Amino acid sequence: MHPFPILRVALPVPLPRLFDYLPPADAKPVAVGQRVRVPFGPRELCGLVIEHAQVEPGVALKSVLAGLDDAPLLHGELLASLRWLAGYLHAPLGEVLATALPALLRRGEPLPEIAQYGWCLNEAGHMALPSMRAGKPKALAQWLDQLRDEDSLDVEQPGWRAALRTLRERGLVERIEIAADTETGPGLRPATEKNASPSVSPNPEQQAAIDAILAAQGFAPFLLDGVTGSGKTEVYLQAIAACLARGQQALVLVPEIGLTPQALARFRARLGVPVHALHSGLNDSERAKVWLQAASGQARVIVGTRSAVFVPLPQAGLIVIDEEHDGSYKQFDGIRYHARDFALLRARALAVPIVLGSATPSLETLHNARTGKFTGLRLRQRAGAAQPPQVRVQDVRKRPLHAGLSDDTLHAIRSALDAGGQVLVFRNRRGYAPVLLCHDCGWSAHCPRCSTPEKPTPMTVHAHGKRLQCHHCGHRKPAPPACPDCASLGLQPQGNGTERIEAELQTRFADVPVIRIDRASSGHRDALQHHFDTLGAQPGILVGTQMLAKGHDLPNLTLVVVVGIDEGLFSADFRSSEKLAQLLIQVAGRAGRADKPGTVLLQTHHPDHALLNILVRGGYHAFADEDLALREAAGFPPFAYLALLRAEAKHAEPPLQFLQQAKALLLPHGIQLHGPLPAPMPRRAGFVRHQLIVSSPHRRALHAALAAAVAVLYATPQARRVRWSLDVDPVDL
Ligand code: ADP
Ligand code: ZN
Ligand code: ZN
Repeated sequence: MHPFPILRVALPVPLPRLFDYLPPADAKPVAVGQRVRVPFGPRELCGLVIEHAQVEPGVALKSVLAGLDDAPLLHGELLASLRWLAGYLHAPLGEVLATALPALLRRGEPLPEIAQYGWCLNEAGHMALPSMRAGKPKALAQWLDQLRDEDSLDVEQPGWRAALRTLRERGLVERIEIAADTETGPGLRPATEKNASPSVSPNPEQQAAIDAILAAQGFAPFLLDGVTGSGKTEVYLQAIAACLARGQQALVLVPEIGLTPQALARFRARLGVPVHALHSGLNDSERAKVWLQAASGQARVIVGTRSAVFVPLPQAGLIVIDEEHDGSYKQFDGIRYHARDFALLRARALAVPIVLGSATPSLETLHNARTGKFTGLRLRQRAGAAQPPQVRVQDVRKRPLHAGLSDDTLHAIRSALDAGGQVLVFRNRRGYAPVLLCHDCGWSAHCPRCSTPEKPTPMTVHAHGKRLQCHHCGHRKPAPPACPDCASLGLQPQGNGTERIEAELQTRFADVPVIRIDRASSGHRDALQHHFDTLGAQPGILVGTQMLAKGHDLPNLTLVVVVGIDEGLFSADFRSSEKLAQLLIQVAGRAGRADKPGTVLLQTHHPDHALLNILVRGGYHAFADEDLALREAAGFPPFAYLALLRAEAKHAEPPLQFLQQAKALLLPHGIQLHGPLPAPMPRRAGFVRHQLIVSSPHRRALHAALAAAVAVLYATPQARRVRWSLDVDPVDL
């Protein structure tokens, strides 16, 4: 008897294995990497064929219901890298693939059309052209004299939409499919040289960085370590242009908040080719299209947020990660991957250079540069005429404060506005006030779903005192009119959030616009841009959270005020000082980015705090030296490797039992175990949470232990009674 061929399929279910099926009844061969629809218990699922295998006849297997594609959707480097990722995260391959694929494709829907279309004048258009009135429609009509690629409209005819609408309404143009193998004729696709807008001439440091990247052969990781405003984007752009000129694709990852229409326009204008954006503002079909266009090689430049790290790059030439320290690169639920780390793995597999840029590199990345794993490139000066901002620590002890702002600060704001400048007031707390307190009996408002008797979680006051909201679980309720404990009417919002600071500034500086920027006011990508457009170049004040810390170039911003960072100075998490230092440097970096000098005021009750002093005197690198030394002494990353097992349930027992079981499985493997302990937030949205920290100075030892234990853990009865997750290289403990 001959063994016969079967298909091993990865399915999006939380089990760490593949599933065997017989080939479909229609007997069409199904290749590795193709999607299939299969029966799974009472359901049907869409999965991906990972292997062909031989088994002895006699095993009872179900058949694949249908193959969904004519060709593999995933293959080569990307499939191999994703298999590696599943192994590294100790996560089911089917779930990793489901995370990596655009939702539309993951659900088994047919591949959307990615044919390219072009526009040109029709016969009526050619006849009407000579007699048309001068204006935008006429200019566009002249340009559409020959067939033009739809994507090139954005690049070459800014503001084309209205003009094209006019031409369509008059029946003068038609839309034509451009066959994929059409010769790239003149005018059909913009040529890089011709249409790219001229670049600024790089300064010597930029030039050295560009030269180093262009000279790289094969896999070559770079840290582009450049102060805020040093012109890192210029370096990326030149490296990308060279990559395009070699006929290769470039992938650029940016933080969610950095992918503004403004930033995209800059890329489009400078590169002279269509730039394909991938971000949370796209619908499923748009996302799937960009992914497929990358797979087909149509998309030459892909700029995207975290999940763009999963696009296929059959002709890869370069990967760029802007603001590589940014927290948004780590996924916090489901498959907890880190886009920066996965991008590094892919760059190695693709044998291409990868550039990690930041003014405040993560300590992991700095360590890699110092130990020679990455090539360090420095930009020490701001580009052009801009000077570094002056930073002043302002002691506010015993000073009267108005919504958290001292008199000195208010004076400084007035002078900056009078001089025609703009002011940014940074406070990393949304809402009106962090706490609602009864002045008579000491009661305060806590979230009923996130509090324990030992650790109450305050609810934030919103809407000028009218509403309470929990920032951890989203629970909302109206603020009580009187104290629930003593019926007193003396309920007082304590402390200051961005809403309250905004209100205070609006009354004091009624002559200028005061614009608040936080998740509540600017959750939508375009809302943020709209706020910046509203302000324009006139004097005014921006109040906001860390959304303001990133990437926006406001040439008239001359004063940055940092309010209430003191909570951050005393956090227990070993990464908290790194995060605070990065935030402070990035916020400060918003000031004085053009020819006007900038000032930064750091208000604090702890003017002698070591972190503030070292940052102000020595800058980020002095801080990093010190913090790396502390981490080495304490055996924390990057000098050790961590994983975090979390478990939660309605009651405390099941998570504890699950983690005890995990501990017992991990114990024989000679790694360090810490816990089970209550999580830093011991209760959240009604769930009791515990965690177990697993660590080792050796990555290999950690992974060997996890591999052995996790496979067993999935099958334990304790696992069924909790929600649990494994976080490899966690960023918060
Ligand atoms: P970073 O990303 O390092 O914070 P950007 O790339 O946004 O900095 O550059 C900051 C500003 O400096 C931008 O307005 C950019 O156009 C300008 N710039 C960059 N390089 C040069 C240069 N070589 N000469 C003049 N201006 C430059
Ligand atoms: Zn009371
Ligand atoms: Zn809550």
